[in-house]
Amino acid sequence: MRIRTKLAAITGAAAIVGLFALSTLAWTNAQLSRSAAELALIQELIETQFERAALREEYFLYHEERPREQWMQHTEHMTAALERANTVLGAPDQQDLLRRIRPSLEKTKVLFARLLETHEMTSRGSLDAAQGAVIEGLLRSQLILDAQQLAVQIFKLQAITNRERAARYSRSQALILTSFLALTGFALATLALVARSIVAPLRRLEQGIEVISTGDLAHRIGLVSNDEIGDVGRAFDAMTERLRSITVSRDELTKEVIKRREVEAALHKANEDLESSNKDLEQFAYVASHDLQEPLRMVASFTQLLAQRYEGQLDEKGRKYINYAVDGAVRMKRLIDDLLTYSRIASRAMPLQTIDANAVLEAALKNLAAAIEESRASITAGKLPTVRADAAQLTLVFQNLIGNAIKFRGPEEPRVHVAVADRAGEWIFSIRDNGIGIKPEHADRIFVIFQRLHTREEYPGTGIGLALCKQVVERHGGRIWVESEPGKGSTFFFSMPQ
Ligand code: ADP
Repeated sequence: MRIRTKLAAITGAAAIVGLFALSTLAWTNAQLSRSAAELALIQELIETQFERAALREEYFLYHEERPREQWMQHTEHMTAALERANTVLGAPDQQDLLRRIRPSLEKTKVLFARLLETHEMTSRGSLDAAQGAVIEGLLRSQLILDAQQLAVQIFKLQAITNRERAARYSRSQALILTSFLALTGFALATLALVARSIVAPLRRLEQGIEVISTGDLAHRIGLVSNDEIGDVGRAFDAMTERLRSITVSRDELTKEVIKRREVEAALHKANEDLESSNKDLEQFAYVASHDLQEPLRMVASFTQLLAQRYEGQLDEKGRKYINYAVDGAVRMKRLIDDLLTYSRIASRAMPLQTIDANAVLEAALKNLAAAIEESRASITAGKLPTVRADAAQLTLVFQNLIGNAIKFRGPEEPRVHVAVADRAGEWIFSIRDNGIGIKPEHADRIFVIFQRLHTREEYPGTGIGLALCKQVVERHGGRIWVESEPGKGSTFFFSMPQ
């Protein structure tokens, strides 16, 4: 039940109980006023009766006009009072007594009239004085007796009325006690209801909020009542649940962030280590290839000198050995030259400049002139853009890719086409050939230094060219890849930011 409904019910019950208490008071008041009116009337009868007795005695003594008249008046007054008593005193006992009082009063009136008459007759002389005195004495005694009887009846009436008043008083007391008990019961019931359906749930709500405010978001208030406080409790539980899930996801997020930061730090450290070991490696390659050049040159020139000097004296085997040595020295020179070039990509890099890629391609072709002529290759190119690059290094890229396209030619004369495409802020350069092609599973491997797919006897080379191209392209912020199928030619792509 809603609190509003409960309050309405309490107000209704309070109105009923209040009305009952008020009517009890009103009824009691009416009862007591009625008793007071009855007793006042009886008091009036008693007083009049006593005054009549006094006036009667006074008249007997002096036989004057005044007490006689006043006795008559009081008797009339008493008759009127008895008339009123007839309506005021309604109890059967009272009515019964009234019925007896009225003739008694009438009787005193008759006796008093006869007394007056006897006295008059005696005074006029129509009645003998002695006889008159005897009759008067008799009438007087009779009158006194009747008056006393009347007084006794009036006192009885008073006693009955007093009893009636006491009965009314105790009935009123019982009723007042009942309404007091009803009021107390109602107050206690209201208190119990308020305590059970308002104070206790509010206390539970307060305790729940205290627990939750300490950070225990798993706590639930769990009010089941159907009223407004129950609504608040349920809303609070829902809010705590939402808060808990938000906190859980926030904690998970924090954990994730911490984990990611750790991974990032590890990655950063690994990158730094890699960079430093790369630098060491480049330095080593440079130093080794540079320092090897001099002894190699000596080996090559002295072997050649040996061959020239002892040409006529050497037999077939001697000449063969010398040729092997010269050949080895030449190959080693090429290897060392290539390694030097590779190691210089980082160390001898020039700052990037805006250059014309057409001019770069032209320079590369000039360097390849002998190979082009010897292989009768046809090289075509679309119009190339200007790019931000290190001209010497970009020349090396074109030179290596076109050189490979010629070197790894198939049975047909080599045809190479250089083109460029504009794609989402990047230039995509392509060098397409009609050579022997590459198996797709080797597409990544060939960019690793010293990785070759053929023996030296099949195709000469050091396995450094594509690794060098990759290094240069990446230094310029691009990527390099190949699309090819064996026997169907290859297309090498590399990108450069615009
Ligand atoms: P090298 O040319 O000295 O062998 P590279 O690094 O230039 O070394 O090339 C690595 C390998 O990739 C080559 O040995 C060759 O097998 C393969 N390759 C490179 N370019 C081509 C191409 N245009 N056609 C077919 N195979 C190629």
